[in-house]
Amino acid sequence: MAYLTQPDYIKYVCSCGQLKPITNLYFCRHCLKIRCGFCICHEVDSHYCANCLENMPSSEARLKKNRCSSCFDCPSCFHTLSTRATIAQPRQDPAAGDAKIENKQPKKMYYLSCFNCRWTSRDVGIPDQPVASGGWPERTNPFAARVNQLLDYYKAIAQQEKQEKLDRERKKFAIRGKYMNLTDKTGLTGAMARNIAGLASSESSSSAIANFVPSQASEEVEELPEDYHTQEVNLKQITSMRQRLRAAEWQPRSAARLQPAARALSVKRSQRCRACDHNLTKPEYNPGSVKFKIELLAYYHVPEVKIISYETVKPGETTALLLKLTNPTAHEMQVRLLQPQDVPEVEEREEPKSIEKSLEKSLNLEKDSSWSKVLQRRAALPTACAVRAPDAALTLAQRDDAAEYDDDPQHDTSDIIMWRKSNKLALRLQVATAAGAAPGGPARAALALQYSYRNTVPPAAAAPAPRDHTLYTTLVIHLGTVAE
Ligand SMILES: [Zn+2]
Ligand SMILES: [Zn+2]
Ligand SMILES: [Zn+2]
Ligand SMILES: [Zn+2]
Repeated sequence: MAYLTQPDYIKYVCSCGQLKPITNLYFCRHCLKIRCGFCICHEVDSHYCANCLENMPSSEARLKKNRCSSCFDCPSCFHTLSTRATIAQPRQDPAAGDAKIENKQPKKMYYLSCFNCRWTSRDVGIPDQPVASGGWPERTNPFAARVNQLLDYYKAIAQQEKQEKLDRERKKFAIRGKYMNLTDKTGLTGAMARNIAGLASSESSSSAIANFVPSQASEEVEELPEDYHTQEVNLKQITSMRQRLRAAEWQPRSAARLQPAARALSVKRSQRCRACDHNLTKPEYNPGSVKFKIELLAYYHVPEVKIISYETVKPGETTALLLKLTNPTAHEMQVRLLQPQDVPEVEEREEPKSIEKSLEKSLNLEKDSSWSKVLQRRAALPTACAVRAPDAALTLAQRDDAAEYDDDPQHDTSDIIMWRKSNKLALRLQVATAAGAAPGGPARAALALQYSYRNTVPPAAAAPAPRDHTLYTTLVIHLGTVAE
């Protein structure tokens, strides 16, 4: 993909002003806008273990501290550990004599082994287990009690602050004389609303705050051992910083104290357009599947531009540039090349807020809304080089997968069209470079495309929308460096 789409040479301007290759962009079919990872909402859909593909709900994942209970990583090289079986011979008991041994069957025992660095659980003295899965001794965090105390304390403070905010807001509404409690409107009680917000009841929180003992800083520190600076270091016996921090709770100094690390869970996430709240991607729930239920990638909706070749850009001269345009959609597309300054300004549409939104707002849980300011940002487009865009409407046929097998492109006699083949078009263009362009600097030119787009989303019955649209996109073409 990287080679085919030239991510470093052609960058599209996202509606938030970021420059991204087309493979990193999404296309919202409801706003008809290009979106990127920076200006969309990322949500965790499900948690799963990438090794054993076990799925679990987020509440269970939280309980298990986002770790799989049956898979382990090597504490030495971080590769996945494998379970190995060995036959354990029954131990000879001299007091019982030889007769007893014959009754005992050799037993299968299991241990963990790393196929990458050969570390095994036997190296650190973890006894072999009689069952293949689970049962590995768990090491408890020496500071578990204190960590839980701190967690409870901060939860209580957060709850108290939210409650105070809620009370303030209620007062504000009461003063205005238009007091309309959310709980009256939606039939929610205060306790229910707190439950939705994931907050504990207020009694337990005040006791958590009252009973909390803050930590005390102390000037007395344990002395280092006498031979600390003279003792020779054996690098084979001490752990690296990475290995130590991998087990943040006990941070073993000695390699003999390494423990198998429970594997961290992965998440499947869905992505949502911030402006209209529609999904841009939604993966299938099954962790083994790499497919998506919704996958609105710009690569399937926006005309793709690639560089075929270009002449070295020289200050004050006009050089040749060959571009290829591809229509990825199943409908014929009309494309027109424009200068970026000729693209009409389009305002971001504000969607009406739903009831969930007002609930979120009254509980002060609303999403960060600073993104709307981000969306007003404009990308700084290069001006030293300009693509001479001929004013001609170009027709791109719809995508035809069978046409991929056709060999012969159709050569055109037109000035700008070099050849056309199915849904692709090669253009012969000129790049004019300003005389003042800095030699040795990057040669970049901006180009805008006007294209027709047929929306295949069935329109809502209440608001029938037109199916055919004229859309615009701006891209920046990187043409190496300006010649000396
Ligand atoms: Zn949208
Ligand atoms: Zn963006
Ligand atoms: Zn697992
Ligand atoms: Zn290893």
